[in-house]
Amino acid sequence: MKTILSACLLLLVLFACTKKEPLAVTSFTAFTGATIIDGNGGEPIKDGVLLMEDGRIVSVGPNESSTLPENTVIHDVTGKTIIPGLINAHGHVGDVKGIEGGHYSRENIIDNLAIYTRYGVTAVVSLGGDEQEAESLRAVNDTTNVQRARLFIAGTIVNGKNAEEALQVVNRNDSMGVDFMKIRVDDNLGTAPKMPEEIYRAVIKRSHELGYKMASHMYYLEDARKLLDAGTDMLAHSVRDLPVDDAFIQLMKVKQVPYCPTLTRELSTFVYENIPDFFSDPFFTKEYDSLTIQPLKDPARQKKIRESQSAITYKKQLPTAMANLKKLHDAGVPVVFGTDSGVPTRFIGYFEHLEMSMMADAGLTPMQIIVSATRNPAHYLGLKNIGTLEKGNHADFIVLDADPLVDIKNTRKISGVFIGGVEVKR
Ligand SMILES: [Zn+2]
Repeated sequence: MKTILSACLLLLVLFACTKKEPLAVTSFTAFTGATIIDGNGGEPIKDGVLLMEDGRIVSVGPNESSTLPENTVIHDVTGKTIIPGLINAHGHVGDVKGIEGGHYSRENIIDNLAIYTRYGVTAVVSLGGDEQEAESLRAVNDTTNVQRARLFIAGTIVNGKNAEEALQVVNRNDSMGVDFMKIRVDDNLGTAPKMPEEIYRAVIKRSHELGYKMASHMYYLEDARKLLDAGTDMLAHSVRDLPVDDAFIQLMKVKQVPYCPTLTRELSTFVYENIPDFFSDPFFTKEYDSLTIQPLKDPARQKKIRESQSAITYKKQLPTAMANLKKLHDAGVPVVFGTDSGVPTRFIGYFEHLEMSMMADAGLTPMQIIVSATRNPAHYLGLKNIGTLEKGNHADFIVLDADPLVDIKNTRKISGVFIGGVEVKR
């Protein structure tokens, strides 16, 4: 009898030890003492308190006016700065491994999203190249603790020889389940046929009927103008051929169409003509080792880039893109942060921080850049419950060791990244 009892007791103990109980069903957690930048662009909250419960934000405010519920787990982060998780409004997810494309799989989508989160990017809008594998990983399907960036997709980039063919792609995307539609209206610097206006007008009209916003890839000012007239909901790149004129600025402002600069896209076309400085940045090398980037140091490859006509043109036009960003932003056009990363040699995660530096070089203030990477994409692209640190939103945020308002490069000094209130492994 005694042995049976002890055996039972042993089993009980073993059972209790191996069974993982979640903490409490309703558990409050607070981060206290930090300066909080909520993403809306107002004055930062000094000595702030960020209170959350079950992955959602309960309240954000100064310490003196905050009361914490009993049993709140408190993390004192005095001296640090909290900003919302970054949102990349133009990325691509799942195709790239290292510097190589062609690796699309469910596993690689998850891997790409995990890299984004390690760099503080907690949501990504993938503008094209998204297959069935991505559908079940979309943000609308999964908002629990997933240790990876929330994903929005555009499916297959809509194209076709005629309107009918293009509309079939729209319908296929719709039945797969997407968040956006995407088109390309570009001739790749005169080397490819451009999507005709009658096709993109039909595609935009149909997408709107189905309830989707249209993101448009473009290069030329004239195409951007026509796309606005046709009803596009987002310009997914900078206008790069010409300085934007007053009529265009007014049109953008009246329509409040978000403008996504993707300056690092331009950079990526020519930066590997030499060994870029960032190859020796520990914030880069911690994710991308020397073996991964070795091919980019090949002198023959560098020479090819130096002699590439398109690289020369994109490099020459980058200052135009930067000046246009500043002009449009100052005129009141909503800027949504985006990089076009997730394409070979546009390094996921690191390029987002590079992009912010380039936006600063273009003349935007750190606060303006942060708003473009948090509130704006959520607001202008309709991404629900993310973007700002306010009641009801997902607790997606970054704890920084240094103040990004002093220098935007301080977004690289990451102490912790949280998605739905849970810290991401880094
Ligand atoms: Zn893109």
